[in-house]
Amino acid sequence: MLRIAVQTKGRLHEETMLLLAESGIKLESNKRQLLVSARNFPLEILFLRDDDIPQSVADGVADVGIVGKNEFVEKAQKATLTKELGFSKCRLSLAIPKAVNYTGLSWFEGKVIATSYPGILRSFLDEKKIKAEIHIITGSVEIAPGIGLADAIFDIVSSGSTLVTNHLKEVEVVMKSEAVLIAHPKLNTEKQSILDELLFRIETVQMAEDKKYVLMNVPAENIERIIAELPGMRSPTVMPLAKEGWYSLHVVVEEKRFWDVIGKLKALGAEGILTIPIEKMIL
Ligand code: AMP
Repeated sequence: MLRIAVQTKGRLHEETMLLLAESGIKLESNKRQLLVSARNFPLEILFLRDDDIPQSVADGVADVGIVGKNEFVEKAQKATLTKELGFSKCRLSLAIPKAVNYTGLSWFEGKVIATSYPGILRSFLDEKKIKAEIHIITGSVEIAPGIGLADAIFDIVSSGSTLVTNHLKEVEVVMKSEAVLIAHPKLNTEKQSILDELLFRIETVQMAEDKKYVLMNVPAENIERIIAELPGMRSPTVMPLAKEGWYSLHVVVEEKRFWDVIGKLKALGAEGILTIPIEKMIL
């Protein structure tokens, strides 16, 4: 049995539970419990506050955990970063009042900076040889400059709308963050093999994300040119249609790259283009 620590609530909770569900893991109960077992996989989920996840994994209370990289780096606990998961992306940035003229990092010399991430901020300031006072606040960091508690803030930024609402501007990105899977440094072989299976499933789900199965009918005379334009992963499948001189072409493409070529395909006579979502992909 592998025990995974997951955030009790918040955006990481939602996306982590979705990833586990897409990985085919069904839970015993949907009730709000501290510990829930999976019905069809040797996994139990321990729900914790995000601040507590790095330590619980380092101490072995949980074997693995899914947490923001920001929390993991801040807590500096002895756990291994096993996989970056690509969701809940954000950055940890320094921000100052919008009206202030920013002159570069030296602006922060002698200033007071409010944050919930004193560890990351301290190492950044030390590395840049900036002497500033760090004021630790646990919530609503963004209001600190407005109420005269600090000159600047160091906080999570995602869309940037919280900064705009509070008349602040982002001036330095210190760290990029996303959800990561962390593991206890010494898992026994049984737990390690469950983790390997879980990682395989996660990779299978992630591989299929942003990819589409595309089908189209193409005229025989342009088939080579159409294939040359397609940003496909592998060689496409080509099958003759009942209609003479026409083929059905199937290919897996990254959705965002597909938009670049759709006009060219149509110009080359491709018709009846269908895109179908892919649930899982095993290479
Ligand atoms: P935004 O207004 O989109 O820039 O979001 C800023 C606020 O949302 C921050 O102050 C955080 O409290 C929260 N937030 C945004 N992204 C994340 C994330 N990936 N993990 C945790 N909190 C986040």
